Amino acid sequence: MARLRFNVVEAAFKKKALEIKMPTERPSEYFAKYVFNKEKMFQYLSPSTYEQLCDVIENGTRLDLSVADEVAKGMKKWAQEFGVTHITHWFQPLTEGTAEKHDAFVEHGDNGGMIEKFSGKALVQQEPDASSFPSGGIRSTFEARGYSAWDPASPVFVVGDTLMIPTVFISYTGEALDYKAPLKKALAAVDKAATAVCKYFDPEVTKVTANLGWEQEYFLVDEDLYAARPDLLLTGRTLTGHDSAKNQQMEDHYFGAIPDRVAEFMKDLEIQALELGIPCKTCHNEVAPNQFELAPIYEECNLAVDHNMLLMSLMRKVARKHGFRCLLHEKPFAGINGSGKHANWSLATNTGVVLHAPGKTPEDNLRFLVFAVETLVGLHKHNGLLKASIMSATNQHRLGANEAPPAIISAFLGKQISEVFDKIENSSNEELISIKGSSALSLDIPQIPDLRIDNTDRNRTSPFAFTGNRFEFRAVGSQANCAEAMTVLNTAVAEALTDFKTRVDEHIANGEDKTTAIIRVLREDIKASKPIHFEGNGYSDEWKAEAERRGLDCETSCPLVFDRYLDLETIKMFEEQNVMRELELKARNEIKWDTYTKKIQIEARVFGDMAMNQIIPVATRYQSLLIDNVSKIAATFSAEEAEQLNADNLKIIREISEHTRFIIENVNAMVEARKVANRIESEREKAIQYHDTVQPYLDSIRYHADKLELLVEDELWVLPKYRELLFIR
Ligand code: ADP
Ligand code: MG
Repeated sequence: MARLRFNVVEAAFKKKALEIKMPTERPSEYFAKYVFNKEKMFQYLSPSTYEQLCDVIENGTRLDLSVADEVAKGMKKWAQEFGVTHITHWFQPLTEGTAEKHDAFVEHGDNGGMIEKFSGKALVQQEPDASSFPSGGIRSTFEARGYSAWDPASPVFVVGDTLMIPTVFISYTGEALDYKAPLKKALAAVDKAATAVCKYFDPEVTKVTANLGWEQEYFLVDEDLYAARPDLLLTGRTLTGHDSAKNQQMEDHYFGAIPDRVAEFMKDLEIQALELGIPCKTCHNEVAPNQFELAPIYEECNLAVDHNMLLMSLMRKVARKHGFRCLLHEKPFAGINGSGKHANWSLATNTGVVLHAPGKTPEDNLRFLVFAVETLVGLHKHNGLLKASIMSATNQHRLGANEAPPAIISAFLGKQISEVFDKIENSSNEELISIKGSSALSLDIPQIPDLRIDNTDRNRTSPFAFTGNRFEFRAVGSQANCAEAMTVLNTAVAEALTDFKTRVDEHIANGEDKTTAIIRVLREDIKASKPIHFEGNGYSDEWKAEAERRGLDCETSCPLVFDRYLDLETIKMFEEQNVMRELELKARNEIKWDTYTKKIQIEARVFGDMAMNQIIPVATRYQSLLIDNVSKIAATFSAEEAEQLNADNLKIIREISEHTRFIIENVNAMVEARKVANRIESEREKAIQYHDTVQPYLDSIRYHADKLELLVEDELWVLPKYRELLFIR
């Protein structure tokens, strides 16, 4: 059996890079080749249809069904040039990844034959068989069906023989059953609230867009080694595996050359991603061995989320072509860095102003400060909820560990912005505003130097850091759909801005001038949101104590963190901002708890099997070899000599027994704990029980399994080891 490991390792070692031919065109020429973007719309649609569709995309107006027919016709014509025969509504259910339902273009024709047809109705709305997607009980209580509806803001694209249509997925009674529908509502909410605030500064602003630039981290593992690890195969992470003698301590991977096999994979991935309109920009090594990152240029948030979902499935596919498996799990290996998805977020106006970038004049800086402060207000008020938006059974392993953002949400601003905040907080309005000469207003708000150039002022330990023209939310999990975090963040900021505007308007109504009113409210908000502002080391134990004192959410139990979704102020926020209703929040939490339970349940089962079928048998086989040796020595030497010679082996034999006994006892206890938990009806209580009574076994059993890996002869060990998983590429 152990030969298998050696054969696999040997084969993996010998694999050659799959050489990818570079396209002859330049990237700008094949970029978005498979996307029905505006350029193609213009080419394949009549001028009036084109204009109506642009209006739908830009202004969110409704698509007339007759226009939809025209659009579908144009799309079909374009897609058939690539040999496309099928269409699918592509959506983001509340499970992982994306879902598709394929239909052929063909329909029954009049004369009994088949004709190729793609109607506007098929483009705009479909009813996928929704019963197999989680709905948290919404569909059973209300209406059995769900439907998917085209999101024209995200262009359709071609993959293989299929035309992919990005859609939202909702129940017949209107509840969102996916990630996209609430995100779109959150983006509408922040648009409305931010546009209203922008009018104080520039009446020309009619639309505010949220931008998102994600950075996707991942690991690559040789697929044959992967196949020999039941834990990787079934849970996405290693449940056992002793540290490799060398891992990331040399920090040589980050700057190291990219190995050939990986380089060809990256090249292939980048070409295919560009063809699908994903604006890839950087690919590089990350800190851990075999860990890499890919980041595109930022885009409008809804589109960026779709592109991230598309990229994750593309990564998995392309990796297999190159003999790798792409691990998107947040913590595939213990003891080395996990993977995240930094979400770079900012708001920008239709007039081309990035609202999270400091300006050139004191007036511009005032506007910047409003958006920075109100972001912090939203973050502070809903810090527990923000954490809930990124928390999962898989990401919980990464949060709070030493390489990742801590399990406490705080914001880092840097020295310069912090000083400006202090100045506003500690100065009177008269000190900040003076009326010069002919009633021209002058602001004594310090100039903020151009931060985009100087990025040295960075705090890597902060989960939410200002980085010059945006905030970087670093706690999002690598395999998560970042729509969830973006939905919460944009809604929280929308609420803060709405509230800000109400208070400023009250002061103005009472006769105060606009700037004075803005600064007055700003000062209140800087004070109120102060607890969320932290410039120090987020990994330190002092910060945990300090955060507790400041009243920030310090809960680390995943199922309990989910409770924040059902807090009164959460429900109020989502309902007032018209993003989600209480029923939807409740249903989503049922799914969250259920998913959590199932993940731990699967890990426990897989690890139980590995322990009993792979780890214990190998350990006892090795132990028998030692015992055999002991008895042979006893037969060969004098009693006295034999006792001396056997001392070390006897010690190892005993150690093996201790470890195997612990493992067997605890695997059995884990099974019993599962049985108790499984009998619990409430999804929440069951998840808590799994967290408190099942999950701890995974760590304690692992400790002993890892020890056995060190004791047992290398040749007998069946599971590919960390050094093989992490260093072969
Ligand atoms: P780093 O690794 O230093 O954090 P990268 O350049 O790898 O930075 O990634 C930063 C990401 O942030 C990119 O996707 C980039 O397009 C994006 N970004 C830059 N400016 C903004 C902005 N104003 N709003 C949102 N995202 C932005
Ligand atoms: Mg970054």
